[in-house]
Amino acid sequence: MTLVRMKIRVTGIVQGVGFRPFVYRIATENRLKGYVKNKGDAGVEILLEGEKENIRCFLKDLKEKKPPLAQIYEVIQAPLKRGKKYKNFSIQRSSAETELSGSVIPPDIAICNECLKELRDPEDPRHEYFFITCTNCGPRCTIIEGLPYDRENTTMRDFPMCSFCKSEYTNPLNRRFHAQTVACQKCGPKAYLTTKKGELIKNKDPIREAGKLLSEGFIVAIKGYGGFHVATATTKDKPLTRLRKVKHREHKPFAIMVRSLKTIKTFAEVSMKEAQVLTSYMRPIVLLDKSENYFLSDLIAPGLHNIGVMLPYTGLHYMLFDQVDEPAFVMTSANPPNQPIINDNDEALRRLGETVDYFLFHDRQIAHRCDDSVVRLHDHRQVFLRRSRGYAPAPIVLSEKSKRCTVGLGGELNNTGCVLLGNKAFISQHIGDVENVETRDFLEKATRHLIHLTNSRVEAVACDLHPKFTTTKLAHDLAAENDWQLIQVQHHYAHIEALMVEHNVKEIIGVCCDGYGYGLDGEAWGGEILLCTRDFPSFERLAHLQKQPLIGGDLATRYPLRVATGILHKKVDVQEWLLQNHKHFPHGRKEVEIFLHQLDKRNKIVETTSCGRVLDAVAAVLGVCYERTYEGEPALRLESAAIKGKDVLRLKPLINGGILDTSRLLLEVFENREKYSRADLAYSAHVYLARGLAMLTIEKALENNVETVGFSGGVACNKILASVMRSVVETSGLRFLVHKTVPAGDGGLSFGQAVVAGFSQF
Ligand SMILES: [Zn+2]
Ligand SMILES: [Zn+2]
Repeated sequence: MTLVRMKIRVTGIVQGVGFRPFVYRIATENRLKGYVKNKGDAGVEILLEGEKENIRCFLKDLKEKKPPLAQIYEVIQAPLKRGKKYKNFSIQRSSAETELSGSVIPPDIAICNECLKELRDPEDPRHEYFFITCTNCGPRCTIIEGLPYDRENTTMRDFPMCSFCKSEYTNPLNRRFHAQTVACQKCGPKAYLTTKKGELIKNKDPIREAGKLLSEGFIVAIKGYGGFHVATATTKDKPLTRLRKVKHREHKPFAIMVRSLKTIKTFAEVSMKEAQVLTSYMRPIVLLDKSENYFLSDLIAPGLHNIGVMLPYTGLHYMLFDQVDEPAFVMTSANPPNQPIINDNDEALRRLGETVDYFLFHDRQIAHRCDDSVVRLHDHRQVFLRRSRGYAPAPIVLSEKSKRCTVGLGGELNNTGCVLLGNKAFISQHIGDVENVETRDFLEKATRHLIHLTNSRVEAVACDLHPKFTTTKLAHDLAAENDWQLIQVQHHYAHIEALMVEHNVKEIIGVCCDGYGYGLDGEAWGGEILLCTRDFPSFERLAHLQKQPLIGGDLATRYPLRVATGILHKKVDVQEWLLQNHKHFPHGRKEVEIFLHQLDKRNKIVETTSCGRVLDAVAAVLGVCYERTYEGEPALRLESAAIKGKDVLRLKPLINGGILDTSRLLLEVFENREKYSRADLAYSAHVYLARGLAMLTIEKALENNVETVGFSGGVACNKILASVMRSVVETSGLRFLVHKTVPAGDGGLSFGQAVVAGFSQF
C-alpha cells in the first residue's frame, strides 16, 4: 500500500458547472482525503491524500466522468511530501489567488429538462418558480461580477438562501449541491409587472398576466438574464405596425420566441439538424425557411423567405405561453440602434417608457449584458451570424499555440472583442455597432473583463486599418496606456486569417466578400481574393471584383438604385428607367435630374470592389429593394427572391486580368428584366457571381500551387453563393473551407485580428 499526496490544478471551464461537487463525489468514491476549491483565476485546485491506485482512478474519472458543461484544458499534477493532514474530503472555501491563465466562466445555459419538469410539478417546492435553475443550467456569465465563482461574487448575492435552498445547496447528493444560482419562490428574485411609467400593477401571477397582455396586442418589455426583450404578438399586424413605428425599424426582421418545437413546425421548415440546434442548451435564434403554411404576420420578417426563431430558455419564457393561444411572441433586443443592451431597471424605464405599454421586471441585477445568438444552417453546416448568449465567453480552441497573448478590437459594425491566449481565443458577447461613446465603453469593458477572467498578460492589441474607426482610436489609447504593441490589420486579411487558423491550414486562397473594408490603398474593398500564408504576416491581393462607382458615397449604400445606375450608365440609356422610378428617390424627380447631371461629370467619384454593393444593385434593378433600412437589407431580400429561381441567363463569367466583370452581369439583368421572372434573374445573378469568384479563385490556386480555397466575409452567410461556389471549387478537386465556429461577418473580425497579431513575428 503506497500512500501519496498530490496537488492538482485544473484549468478550463470548471467553475459554475458543478465541478467541485463532482470532484467531491469521485474523491469520496475513490476513498481519498483532502479538498477541492475554486481559485481567483477561474481554475480549480485539488489536494488528494490516499493510495496511489485510488489517485490513478480519480484522475481517470476526472477526465471521463466530468459534468456535461465542464471543459478541461489542463490538469497539472504536483506530487507533495508524504503526510496525513486531512480526515476527510471537503469543498473548501474559495481562494482569490490567481496563479494560472486560460480558464474562463461558462456562458448562460438554457433551463435543463429536470428543472423544467420541476417547474411544472405541483408537488415540487419550486413549482412555477420562474428562475428555477440547478448546477447544470441557468445564467452564468451575465451574473458573475468577479472570481472565484461564489454566490457573493455574483448578482445572486442579494438573495440569501432560505433554509430549504440551503439544505439542497449543502447536500452532496443533491443536484443543487453548491449551485450558486439556487433560489426559490421564497428567497429568489421576484418578477413584477409595471405600467410604462413604472407604477406597480398588483397581480399574483405577473408573468402569465404579461403573456396575456402580449397576446392581446400590447407591447411589453421583458427583463431576462442578460438584457431586455421588447415583445409582442405575432399573429396580428396591428401591434407589429406599432412596434415598427416606435422602434423606428421599418423592415428589419424581428426574432420570435415560439412556444415549442412542434409549433415551429406549423409555420417553418425544420430539418433534423436545425431541431438539434434549436433545442440545444445554447438555444440560439435559428433562421428557418418559412413553410407554405406560414401563418404568422408578414410584418415579422418582411420580404424575407426565412424567419429568426428561438425556443424559450428560462422558466419565465415558458410561463409566458401558459394561458394564451398565441404560438409565438416577437422577442427583439430592446436596444435602440447603435446602443448597447439596456441592463438596468431605471435605465429601461427611461429609455423604453415611450416604446412599450408594460414592463415585466425582476429584481436581480444584470452584471454583464448578453444578446441572443443567431445562426443559420447551410445544409448541415452551422453558420454563425452572431455568436453571443450560450456560446460566449467559451473559447474557440485552436490546433496551435499563439506566439503571444493579444487582443483584437474588431471593426465598426456587429462588433466583438477577442482575447487570444495560447491555443484559445475568447470572443466576447455581441457588442454591436461601435460608433459612439456608449458602445465603445461596452466593448472596452467586455474586453477588459475577458482579460481579467482569463488572467491574461496581453502584449499586443490589434485593430482595423481604418484610421477613423472608433475601435482604431480605442486600440491606440489602450496601447499607449498599457504599453502594448499596436498592430493594424487589413479588414479582409483578418477575415481570411481567421478562417485559416480555425481550420489549421498553412496557405489558402481566400475569397472575402462583404459590404465594405478599408483597403491597403485606402479605397473601399469588399470583393477580394487574397493569398494568405501562415509564415508571413502579410498577404497578397491576387484578384477582386470590378471597381464600381458609388455615386453620392453613403447615399449610394442607402439607395441601391444609385449603385445600379453608376454601373449601367453609358452602357444603356438609364434616363427613362430612372424617371419611371423617381418615387424611389427621397426627393423624387428633382433628385433624379441632379443625379443624372452628376453622372456625366463623374470625375471624383468613390469606387468600390464591394460584392455587397453589386448584390444591392441587382436588387434595385429587379425592384426587390430600393432602400436599405438595415444593414444588408437589399442583398438579403435578393437572396430571398432567388430562393426558388433557376439560372435562366446562364452567363459565362467575364474575367479579365484578375478582375471579375460585374458590369456585364448588371447589364444582362437590366436588359432581361421584362423577359424573365424576378426569381430566375435573382438566382442567375447569384450564380454568375459565385461561379465567377470560384473560377477566379481556382485560376489563382493553380497559379500559386495552393490546394485550399476559403470563403469568408458577411456575404459568405448567403446560402446560394456559398453552395454554388462550393460545388464549382470541389468539382475542380480543390478543398473549400468556410467558418465553423467563428462568425463569417464582422463578428469574427476581432478574432482574425488577434490571430494575425498573435501568430505573426513582428
Ligand atoms: Zn437545471
Ligand atoms: Zn429558497
